[in-house]
Amino acid sequence: MNARPESVSWHERARMLEFRTQAFIDGRYLDAASGATFDTLNPATGKLLARVASGDAEDVNRAVVSARAAFRRGVWANLAPAKRRQLLLRFAEKIREHAEELALLETLDMGKPITDSLTVDLPAAARCIEYYAEAIDKVYDQVAPTGPGALALITREPLGVVGAIVPWNYPLLMAAWKLGPVLAAGNSMVLKPSEKSPLTAIKVAELAIEAGIPPGVLNVVPGLGQTAGKALALHMDVDCVAFTGSTATGRAIMQYAGQSNLKRVSLECGGKSPNIVLADYPDLDRAATAAAAAIFANQGEMCSAGSRLLVQEGIRDALLEKIQALSRALQPGDPLDPATRLGAIVDEIQMKRVLGYIDSGRSAGAHVRCGGRRVREDSGGYFIEPTVFDQVKPAMAIAREEIFGPVLAAITFKTVDEAIEIGNDVIYGLAAAVWTRDITTAHRVARALRAGTVYVNCYDADDLTVPFGGFKQSGIGRDKSLHALEKYTELKTTWIDLS
Ligand code: NAD
Repeated sequence: MNARPESVSWHERARMLEFRTQAFIDGRYLDAASGATFDTLNPATGKLLARVASGDAEDVNRAVVSARAAFRRGVWANLAPAKRRQLLLRFAEKIREHAEELALLETLDMGKPITDSLTVDLPAAARCIEYYAEAIDKVYDQVAPTGPGALALITREPLGVVGAIVPWNYPLLMAAWKLGPVLAAGNSMVLKPSEKSPLTAIKVAELAIEAGIPPGVLNVVPGLGQTAGKALALHMDVDCVAFTGSTATGRAIMQYAGQSNLKRVSLECGGKSPNIVLADYPDLDRAATAAAAAIFANQGEMCSAGSRLLVQEGIRDALLEKIQALSRALQPGDPLDPATRLGAIVDEIQMKRVLGYIDSGRSAGAHVRCGGRRVREDSGGYFIEPTVFDQVKPAMAIAREEIFGPVLAAITFKTVDEAIEIGNDVIYGLAAAVWTRDITTAHRVARALRAGTVYVNCYDADDLTVPFGGFKQSGIGRDKSLHALEKYTELKTTWIDLS
């Protein structure tokens, strides 16, 4: 399914597509030990896409045993970094070769536009694996300055078995942010994709084997959070759980680690990021375009979404009118149509949750400037118009809680200090932005905002070379960049007496 003749539409391709639906353990596809399955639906139609193996504690245990055995044998951990580099580069290449199939799976499974899957998610996932492959034979260990009587080596060693639990909003990319550094560092891995979007993770496991990564090094156990996810986080022989998902689940993951073997925990959780536009910023068209993209890209199902627009009095109407015009032009469409820029919400539960927040905003007294409704209902799918709320007060639920949908809450402020205070006054601290022409104000606000990433005069600038993660309840630890390798390695000191 690699070369797609231009004449074959994505719909036709979807009809011909075969799904991998089993767990991948020890290099083989297997049904769940219990034989149980769960349904994954196409959010654009509400129809069944596939029945997927529903792993439980027994399947997780089989995967962990396989991962541990691979680690102990040293078939991966003890390879020279240059060899791991070579195999991971081949893995990235396999992902590229299968990009169209994987992009189609991603779109069918979670509803994002095919153009996004193909031009954003897939290249970024392959590039991420490649980045860590390229890095791993270029990082050095250290020798401590102890004096001539001893040699003290500080080395980084793989942790062992890493359990990764990932969400549905960027199913393959969020998995890749774990796969790259976890595998590059020499660990074995058990990956638990979201039950709302398991198909790409199941498929890439096979590509890893084709690339030459030994069986047992990468296992994939699809299943429900409460069963497979919980079993992985509670497992006594898992050394680390690398989690991306909601803050509520992140709290549970920490508890599971405490209740079991004190495994290392890293958390990439939710956000409610403030996008602050000051009245001195001269190019409102640019700020409006970025503000709309910050909340409507990926249907607003983005951890770093600029979901709170903090706009200074004086430019409020001018800026909101521009954002409103952009929102009206951006209507949800069929995710398989290459022209579509806004797809379906991942499932009915999430759609109802988003619509519930829209109702709550209305009842609390905020004003809907545009959007606010479910659309394309005839399709059977879950589509919501881009929605802009004005006259939002910082205490309202739509200004404090993560909605994870195409809903912007606009709050007006008078002074820069007030903007900083409102910006920081939520439990989250993933991202933030400030738009100003004054360099001192830009630095002062960037310093004062409690967030893992602060954008100045831009939003969602991105590169693998920079860490990504949150302050406060947005998480613990960082994905991306060389810093991510720290999460998946232990520091060892080796003293050698020279006296
Ligand atoms: P979620 O917390 O519901 O689920 C995430 C994963 O955890 C899924 O695989 C799920 O099956 C599993 N899970 C659920 N309950 C579990 C439990 N009790 N024990 C173990 N595992 C469990 O989140 P979601 O709805 O899939 O994803 C959306 C969330 O992810 C949003 O809050 C978003 O902000 C966040 N997110 C954060 C980042 C980041 O880098 N900070 C990136 C993407 C998404």
